[in-house]
Amino acid sequence: QQAEWATLLNEKTISKDGVQVELAANIGSPNDLEGVLRHGGEGIGLYRTEFLYMGRDNLPSEEEQFTAYKTVLEGMEGKAVVIRTLDIGGDKNLPYLPLQEEMNPFLGHRAIRLCLEYQDIFRTQLRALLRASNYGNLKIMFPMIATLQEFRDAKAILSEEKENLLAKGVEVSEIEIGIMVEIPSTAVMADIFAKEVDFFSIGTNDLIQYTMAADRMNEKVSYLYQPYNPAILRLIKMVIDAAHKEKKWAGMCGEMAGDEYAVPLLLGLGLDEFSMSATSILKTRSLIKHLSVADMRTLATEALQLTTSDEILDRVKQAVH
Ligand code: PEP
Ligand code: MG
Repeated sequence: QQAEWATLLNEKTISKDGVQVELAANIGSPNDLEGVLRHGGEGIGLYRTEFLYMGRDNLPSEEEQFTAYKTVLEGMEGKAVVIRTLDIGGDKNLPYLPLQEEMNPFLGHRAIRLCLEYQDIFRTQLRALLRASNYGNLKIMFPMIATLQEFRDAKAILSEEKENLLAKGVEVSEIEIGIMVEIPSTAVMADIFAKEVDFFSIGTNDLIQYTMAADRMNEKVSYLYQPYNPAILRLIKMVIDAAHKEKKWAGMCGEMAGDEYAVPLLLGLGLDEFSMSATSILKTRSLIKHLSVADMRTLATEALQLTTSDEILDRVKQAVH
């Protein structure tokens, strides 16, 4: 098996019936690049920039961020790099940014909500990203978008910073602007969002938690954390269909994208990009090579008619073994 995976290192990811998808990697720092290339990553589907801000006692400067983003873009040599703006709050806090104690941090003031309030922090990051755009194929993604207004506000701030840079004679490349779909309201409204965003990346780690109202860290309710729950699959389908209707692409950067029993369903639902930990890429490329998208479409259609998570998982296992 390992030997087969090695032959797939520089291959594209193509199903048995000739449909191509992209297998990208999730990273937390430029140090992860080496692993991405060693495992055959076709791009970066999620760069979690919050790690640049954590484990220190002050904010990273624009220059420091610019260097990190440029390093990743250059290292990927023109392959797509999706960089997510700061997703702090929830379980991730910054010691130098004293945030209020919250009753429900995961439902609180985090990610884009915080960036839209502390605009200095947000604008610094956006300037670093815009300047870095000249060094590769950058796509910018906003986390925890719950309403279209948030997306429009974030995009307007980005446009302002871009105009300011251009006015100063700084070059900026064309950049796709997308959102994480990790809040049910956004999945439900995907048809509306799809008219304004360039792409979606489904964040199932949070989407499952918020859809099932089950804390992703709480073992007591982990039985409710069900990637194969029909409610989750329906939301995923809505997002992918909405994207395709507007000729946009839909990816996934939650853990589900690298799950061997979720991949057949996602392939059948038409997912375009799968972003996962680098170590899962070759295994997943091999799996997809042996699956027919036409068959997986039938499987997904059947799965969507089933009633429980267990039934769906059993059906997938039957189909792929
Ligand atoms: C997600 O929610 O699925 C996701 C990829 O983001 P994070 O795990 O960083 O919250
Ligand atoms: Mg998330």
